Amino acid sequence: VCHTDVHETRNDWHSTSYPIVPGHEIVGRVRATGSRVTRFVVGDLVGIGAMVDSCRHCEACVKSLQQYCHRGPTFTYNSKNNVTGEVTYGGYSDSLVVNEDFVLRVPSSLNPAAAAPLMCAGVTMYSALRHYAIGAGMKIGIVGLGGLGHMGVKLAVAMGAEVAVFTTSLGKTGDALRLGATEVLTPANLDAVTQHARNFDLLVSTIGSVHDVNPYLELLKRDGSYVIVGALEPIPTVRGNLLASRRIAVAGSFIGGIAETQEVLDFCGERGIAADIELIPIQDINSAFDRVVAKDVRYRFVIDMASIHDRAGTIASRR
Ligand code: NAP
Repeated sequence: VCHTDVHETRNDWHSTSYPIVPGHEIVGRVRATGSRVTRFVVGDLVGIGAMVDSCRHCEACVKSLQQYCHRGPTFTYNSKNNVTGEVTYGGYSDSLVVNEDFVLRVPSSLNPAAAAPLMCAGVTMYSALRHYAIGAGMKIGIVGLGGLGHMGVKLAVAMGAEVAVFTTSLGKTGDALRLGATEVLTPANLDAVTQHARNFDLLVSTIGSVHDVNPYLELLKRDGSYVIVGALEPIPTVRGNLLASRRIAVAGSFIGGIAETQEVLDFCGERGIAADIELIPIQDINSAFDRVVAKDVRYRFVIDMASIHDRAGTIASRR
């Protein structure tokens, strides 16, 4: 359950066409293959992320940056396929039909449920961190400790960076340290935040709503970047002098391409990295959405889709 599912289902972005079937962090087994499928066989453990097609020909697609397809990728749900014109329906379902080029291999070393969030939350953070060549000797901040944020901490630590977490939830401090952050900054320790002025190489913001970016820009070193992956709304006024005086960039990053999604799956498979999850039956989805909005998820809900056939909606009864 990505926060995007909540935005899309509730039409936060005024672009939802109903009926909608959300879900773009999908793991399952291949149940059947078409006659021209060569890469997968029945029974394979596979994943599907936020895209199911793209034009395949533009400069971005040729570089496996399908998320930046010039014609726009076909998203896994609430999207119109540019070729067929069909509307897509996502992973809150018991089956999905997808072209094999948009299917990923899920490492057998990972718990499939905990690997599912790698398909969007994982690759979104991985792609942003890789683009800025994050590694040892760099100090980075992850802003917001939710689904994306907690994956960002795990991945940045695995890449060798020193990581601080910015959270509005004091209760998440222990978790942030357990995930590998060396420092946790909250509105309650603003003095410490101020001491960090000009300290960070990169801040990746997963805040999912409009916010003032200027206080964060104060924390960046010369040539530092504030990368927005969360809020897709307009950014309120940015102080130009902050940008110019230290050559600071305010930038964005969008999911990841298919090759990069396989890369993060393999990276995580080799290191045993996966999401911290709470497994729920589909019957609990409305309260799960409310808890996501209330910042009360540690750190990703994953739906056991077998529950779609279960009237009582109890996972335990099927075990
Ligand atoms: P999430 O699990 O709800 O996490 C977001 C976290 O941001 C919250 O847990 C909270 O962390 C913090 N936060 C929320 N509102 C805040 C505010 N007003 N001020 C400061 N901090 C705030 O959501 P998610 O699934 O990680 O997704 C985050 C956003 O990224 C969503 O808007 C989603 O649509 C978007 N997204 C973008 C991409 C992309 O490709 N760019 C991909 C996937 C998702 P604390 O409790 O620690 O403060």
